[in-house]
Amino acid sequence: MAVSRRKFLSGSGLVAAGAAAFPHIARSVDTASARPGQKPSKIIHLVADGMSLATLSMADQLAHLSRKRGLAWLELHQRAGAHHGLMNMRSLNSLVTDSSAASSSWGSGSRIVNGTVNILPDGRELTTIYELFAQAGWKRGLVTTTEITHATPAGFATKGLKREAAEAIATQYLDRGVEVLLGGGRKFFDKTKRKDKRDVFAEYRGKNYAILNEADDLAGAPLDKPWLGTFAPSHLPFTVDHTRDVKLAKAVPTLAAMTKRALEKLVRHERFILQVEGGRVDHGCHMNDAAAAFFDQIAFDEALEVCIEFQRQHADTLLVITTDHSTGNPGLNGTGLNYSLSPLLFSNLLDVKASFSEILIQLGVAQDPRKISVPAEPEKKLVPVTDPSKIIAIIKETTGYELTLRRAKLLLPFLKKEGEPVYNLMNSLTCQLGQLMANYSGVGWTSGAHTSDYVPISAFGPGAERFAGFIQNTDVFRHYTDLAGIDFRNPESPLIGAAAPDSGLLAPHWTA
Ligand SMILES: [Zn+2]
Repeated sequence: MAVSRRKFLSGSGLVAAGAAAFPHIARSVDTASARPGQKPSKIIHLVADGMSLATLSMADQLAHLSRKRGLAWLELHQRAGAHHGLMNMRSLNSLVTDSSAASSSWGSGSRIVNGTVNILPDGRELTTIYELFAQAGWKRGLVTTTEITHATPAGFATKGLKREAAEAIATQYLDRGVEVLLGGGRKFFDKTKRKDKRDVFAEYRGKNYAILNEADDLAGAPLDKPWLGTFAPSHLPFTVDHTRDVKLAKAVPTLAAMTKRALEKLVRHERFILQVEGGRVDHGCHMNDAAAAFFDQIAFDEALEVCIEFQRQHADTLLVITTDHSTGNPGLNGTGLNYSLSPLLFSNLLDVKASFSEILIQLGVAQDPRKISVPAEPEKKLVPVTDPSKIIAIIKETTGYELTLRRAKLLLPFLKKEGEPVYNLMNSLTCQLGQLMANYSGVGWTSGAHTSDYVPISAFGPGAERFAGFIQNTDVFRHYTDLAGIDFRNPESPLIGAAAPDSGLLAPHWTA
């Protein structure tokens, strides 16, 4: 691994760029690296959900354009004592995992069926890593940009569920006393929105939790209480929308800000484990929205920088950085004579002012979540924009791309849900928009679904050497429990054989 990685980096010019960009990291080489066999007393598990290697590459390239320095994750590849590998994320029933089977494989050491959380097909529930670590005296945290009840955080702390059971996940966190919960998903705790009308916020308060609703609450949160912070009714906004809306930027903390506060609280304890998820990279990729995905990947990297700085000060910290699967497999395609157009097209991403989520609202096919969060206001009936000149104006305003009339008309059948794509998995308005945008940004996509790629994994700190080479997703549980001195293994099921050839086409399109 080391040789080929070095070759890749030196060939791309990242060696020089990265070293100059992170002098504080270069200076601290080895000061916090661990000897083999040392054990961590703090573990931070970072997940950029749905990140293919191409997303990492293009986020780095975009970061060089947008902020004149690359990603800290790639800088870690230059760091002595850091280890890197590839990981097979397959689930029990498929080469292509979903997020719940992926996180559960780390959280229990068993492969399970996609769509479920820590349960075997025969109904046996699996013991989660957060239960085991709590019994061993470790504090636990979950930080994400998705709903806090979403699949990736759920896979470390809840069990026996379908991933959609967000209301049950909200109460399982309370039953298990997870000390730090920060993300979105307020509606699953709110008695006016829950199907069972339980006042789950009151139940958390009853167990001494501080309830946090805005960035200011987080800044002033008492360090001696457990935290439940939900900063949006559903997911937190995409970075590309978040940073351009002054009110939103003030109210909703970034992933880096949440991570920093979580560490300030957890460091008061001798031992802790924290999962940090950049969860909306996956959502951007599902929608084939390059700007949404790549700017969220950069925001994830800023949270990683917080963790690297924490590790520099606390050498007993193991950092593990990875993703759960690839989504959409984007790529900057070679365009023009000698591919010379590609960098020019790619820089057009700097002009994008809104995510596809926002564009869908403007095109009249999605509700504005900020409006429907006011209980008094009923959902308005959706009326798609079908005037091609209006479509051209909306796309131009939000992205800078001026569609031709002929291309704008290509969207009409997909706005009316009457589209006929050449490839079945491209049958959505967002995937079609992604293909049109590919003419502008140069970034093309394979579909709006997850793929089977082996994923990159990096580790730094005591125990990092275990994550080098080619590993299985289930090894992560084994390594974490071993490093914590916990002797426990969950039962496993044999892999389920290949599904019918057309089953992939029948699967739900949107499985984040
Ligand atoms: Zn995922």
